[in-house]
Amino acid sequence: MLSYKVQIHPYSIPFRHPLRTAHGTWSRRTGAIVTLTPPTGQPLQGEIAPLPSFGSETLAQALAWVESLQGTITTEQICAIPDPLPCCQFAFETALLPQLETSMPMANGCPEFTIAALLPAGPTALTHWQTPYQRGHRTFKWKIGCFPNELDLLGLLLAQLPRDTKLRLDANASLTLEQTLTWLDRLDRSPQIEYLEQPLNDLETLLAIAPQFSTPLALDESIASLQQLKEAYHQGWRGVFVIKPAIVGSPKKLIEFCAKFRPDTVFSSVFETPIGRYHGINLAHHCGSDRPLGYGTADWLLE
Ligand code: MG
Repeated sequence: MLSYKVQIHPYSIPFRHPLRTAHGTWSRRTGAIVTLTPPTGQPLQGEIAPLPSFGSETLAQALAWVESLQGTITTEQICAIPDPLPCCQFAFETALLPQLETSMPMANGCPEFTIAALLPAGPTALTHWQTPYQRGHRTFKWKIGCFPNELDLLGLLLAQLPRDTKLRLDANASLTLEQTLTWLDRLDRSPQIEYLEQPLNDLETLLAIAPQFSTPLALDESIASLQQLKEAYHQGWRGVFVIKPAIVGSPKKLIEFCAKFRPDTVFSSVFETPIGRYHGINLAHHCGSDRPLGYGTADWLLE
């Protein structure tokens, strides 16, 4: 049984610009980098990037658990990290996960066209898609539920976006049922829409309305944990599953679930450092995810 020396380095990194979402405004990313040193060979790194508003442990809870290890961990212990610590499961398991060659075609982990670029919410999006487009991005993500008159803004944005692009929308569960139906009526007339993500919270309602529209729906907040993801699949969800690998839970169990059921997945960032970003993208390859990755966020944190 292999035993690793464990070191942990907490970080607190400001966003270049505060990030506005339907959950509120976010100005700093706090987390921790874990370094595992085997008796022989190179140290391995993983990242704890909590998102307690999505049900993960807090950074303080993660640090307390790492502290309890007293500086060493075995492979057996890594396989048995408790489910209430999904960010610790991600950090320790992915540190040991084999690197898939296809995940490293470029220095930053992926060619740009396989990554969706995150646009700023509201009218700022109209002047911010051009630079990522020139860099090669062809899928954009735009948060809705943050500004008034967003349906009008959508019309302006779609009129500008070149034909070879796709737009995914994310409401962060901020719409009423009536607003959701209004959006879907509008989106069904726009073939450039890739999907609408989590318009509202209630999974039963989403299961009921999904078949009425041609625009695919995606779950995000509803499937923040592996348990919720499995339940949604077994309740019949066959739309898109937006997986935040840094907080969803055991990577090994996620790989097993994806191999068995082949869900339609998008792997998405929780604003990690390049270490967590690399492991999230590597895990997406292990899970066979083929939609553009939701990791167009590298420019949002100050280095
Ligand atoms: Mg989302």
